[in-house]
Amino acid sequence: MATQVLLGGRIIDPAHQIDRVGDLVIVDGRVAGIDVAYDASATRIDCRGNLVLPGLIDTHAHVYRYVTGRFGLDADTCGVHSGVTTLVDQGGPSCITIPGFRHYVAAPAKSRVKAFISAYLVGGLEGHYYPELYRPGCLDVDATVDSALANRDLVRGIKAHAEIGGFERWGLDVMRLAAEVGRQADLPVYIHFGQLWPSPTENRLPVDPDTIFTQVLDLVKPGDVLAHPFSRHPGGFVSTSGEVHPLVTEAVARGVRIDVGHGSHFSFAMARQVLGAGFVPDTLGADMHGYNTRVPPPPGTPAIHPDEGDHMFAGAVRFSLVSAMTSMLALGLSLEQVVPMVTTHAARLLQMEDEIGHLGLGAVADVSVLHDERGKWTLRDNEGNQAVTSQYLRPRFCLRAGERFDADAGILPQPQSLAA
Ligand SMILES: [Zn+2]
Repeated sequence: MATQVLLGGRIIDPAHQIDRVGDLVIVDGRVAGIDVAYDASATRIDCRGNLVLPGLIDTHAHVYRYVTGRFGLDADTCGVHSGVTTLVDQGGPSCITIPGFRHYVAAPAKSRVKAFISAYLVGGLEGHYYPELYRPGCLDVDATVDSALANRDLVRGIKAHAEIGGFERWGLDVMRLAAEVGRQADLPVYIHFGQLWPSPTENRLPVDPDTIFTQVLDLVKPGDVLAHPFSRHPGGFVSTSGEVHPLVTEAVARGVRIDVGHGSHFSFAMARQVLGAGFVPDTLGADMHGYNTRVPPPPGTPAIHPDEGDHMFAGAVRFSLVSAMTSMLALGLSLEQVVPMVTTHAARLLQMEDEIGHLGLGAVADVSVLHDERGKWTLRDNEGNQAVTSQYLRPRFCLRAGERFDADAGILPQPQSLAA
């Protein structure tokens, strides 16, 4: 019987209202309790000064590596090697390509990998770079519903976009079809807000960015997710005149959820406005991908796509879900607010709250252990806004069903470079 003991960390398990220093005992890959007796042969890991949390869940990942071109990252780099035990790919696989996602990504990954299946036939090829692949004729409601239901173990929702470039091309039609997929499959739809596609050069429909939220709200159902509330791009939660959209309150009252979808369009200024209006997101997706996360290339890798163009985001950085947690702390949210975003709330979004996101007796031992450092760091977003934080979280290691993975991914930030 293999026993592991995480000694003396601050254990936070929001599902069971636990927040205290103690020893977490794991036997044969399952939680055996806190401060319970264990045998002398146990592997003991000193976790004093660390946070010991239910395995972190990243609700917005892009890990359909190779198939989505430069966009898809390696699952375990974003997952277990960054202290994250569960990843949810947002819109990489489609009804056509999900068998490949299952076989080549989800099955071999050490991280637990789930997906919100793309509403579009092509999925997230090259990060949705070619808008014409996403026109209404390139969705098949029946095929996507069938695929989602046939892959229910893997597929936890549907991914779609409500943004200006699409609305200027096709109006609301694509969103209407995506909402129909969500209704028929009875799965949440995760809706991207904020401009993604550039405006078309011809046949452009007039679209007031501030009406997008209103139009989409007519299509959403309880449990659907509005993503990127803190985006610096127009067409989202904050209007062009700088006000938080008046219908956000109504959306939340209807049971619609909000996911941070951090990414590179994250703006501290927008975040302060939305939080200041009283809206705290339900979940926190990191939204890392090949254009915003600098991955050290393996030696001798050929340039697959020589034209980098403006498709590459300036200032690609080292990043992780845990960095996104630090961003939330820098905005003034408390650790008690941030931990549920990446544990209990995320598990509920996946309808997996019995299985993951908590440290209850007998639960599978998905556990994330973080350094909890105090000092002064200055964080910067891609608009140049700054936020100063006195608390900086850094992944140390995680257990995935009891198997230990150190947080050694090359994409993890080095906090000393941010010291103020
Ligand atoms: Zn994304």
